[in-house]
Amino acid sequence: MAHAHTRSWKIRPEKDTFLGAENPFESMMARFDEAAHHLNLEPGLRRVLRHPEKQLIVAVPIQRDNGEIEVFTGYRVLYNTARGPAKGGIRFDMQVTLDEVKALAAWMTWKCAVVNLPFGGSKGGVVCDPATMSTPELERLTRRYTSGIIDMLGPDSDVPAPDVNTNERMMAWIMDTYSMHKRHTVTAVVTGKPVAMGGSLGRREATGRGCMIVTREALKQLGMPIQGTRVVVQGFGNVGSISALLMAEQGMKVLAVSDKDGGIYNAKGLDVRDVMRHVKEQKVLRTYQEADHVSNAELLTLETDVLVPAALENVITEENAPGIRARIICEGANGPTSADADPILNDAGILVVPDILANAGGVTVSYFEWVQDRGGYFWDEETVNSRLEKIMVSSYQECAAMAARNKVSMRIAAYMVSIDRVAEVHRLRGMYA
Ligand code: NAD
Repeated sequence: MAHAHTRSWKIRPEKDTFLGAENPFESMMARFDEAAHHLNLEPGLRRVLRHPEKQLIVAVPIQRDNGEIEVFTGYRVLYNTARGPAKGGIRFDMQVTLDEVKALAAWMTWKCAVVNLPFGGSKGGVVCDPATMSTPELERLTRRYTSGIIDMLGPDSDVPAPDVNTNERMMAWIMDTYSMHKRHTVTAVVTGKPVAMGGSLGRREATGRGCMIVTREALKQLGMPIQGTRVVVQGFGNVGSISALLMAEQGMKVLAVSDKDGGIYNAKGLDVRDVMRHVKEQKVLRTYQEADHVSNAELLTLETDVLVPAALENVITEENAPGIRARIICEGANGPTSADADPILNDAGILVVPDILANAGGVTVSYFEWVQDRGGYFWDEETVNSRLEKIMVSSYQECAAMAARNKVSMRIAAYMVSIDRVAEVHRLRGMYA
């Protein structure tokens, strides 16, 4: 199988410091290269788009509850701000590295551009194990990290959001810390805030709603009905459970869902709301009665119309891709498909709605939150949902048209749409010297 990353038209100036070939983010840059090749992107612009604009490393000293001082390491990377303020989450995790943050910041750049938001891309992280920290420790860490990167932040320059192990509570501390420094309240400096302090209605459901909308579009494209269409979902967290629920509300039949301990299956279709109630009460899926059990590996190869990987990266690989029996894969998670699985899925005629498009509903409603904060005027939930729908539908159609025109997969088409948009702005702005 010809791997994208072995072709000769790659520009790899940072191969030594960038990520390993099996890394999901290197997979992403392999797709960037392929899209840039199809776009005939000038080598100079390719170089520009392969380099982050700004990278910051900060020491984050905090006092632990036992009185000891500990110093953590924090990063913030602005990958590209040609189209507008940078947008990207902050993660608290032991696995955080500068290279990972850099790659995720690039990813955000393409994701914002594919849905045509006036944002660039960024990402941040602190190397820590939040599970071992108390709430006051996490508050001190969040505030000290925010003050460390405060010169980068701002509604016009860089707007963080929650990511792995960060939540709306922490976004509230970021907003407060920034506002105390600025001496006035600045809600638009961060998104994913509680609704009571400038968050947006519909944000929590936005990613799953986006998945449902693009799946509906993909079914239309293939001339398949919505009623009775079979759906299998891996992951039953925010994205997986909301996708499953909204797809079921559209008339689709959710056959199986899973969490990290395994999945449940019912050929007649699961009552998703009842499964959600069960998980809320019991915390786990496996004790749910009205279904059979399947493993996560079995779940991916169930016969279905739609498969929604909404848990982890790299779950669909060269090994299991030949066994996948879906017509459509809607990538709710970031990077669920490794680059070497792409050609296998393409050859099997499976329509893959790629992550940067399929899960862009979240960042789209984050954009709405920023707009509402800046305007000081808040929308009702129907307005949020209908504007989200308009953006997801038109973005899907733009990618589908790009795929048809260039005879490429939806994934490469999505990268082409976004890279083309970022490149166009660079050309129009010219090179400041
Ligand atoms: P979450 O933590 O709410 O849920 C994750 C789910 O995956 C849980 O049900 C968990 O049990 C399950 N899971 C964990 N390990 C698993 C395994 N080995 N096998 C099967 N299931 C497993 O997270 P989320 O917010 O729903 O995010 C899921 C994915 O979607 C991530 O890749 C995330 O980056 C991506 N994403 C999320 C958003 C958002 O708005 N939440 C936006 C864009 C992308």
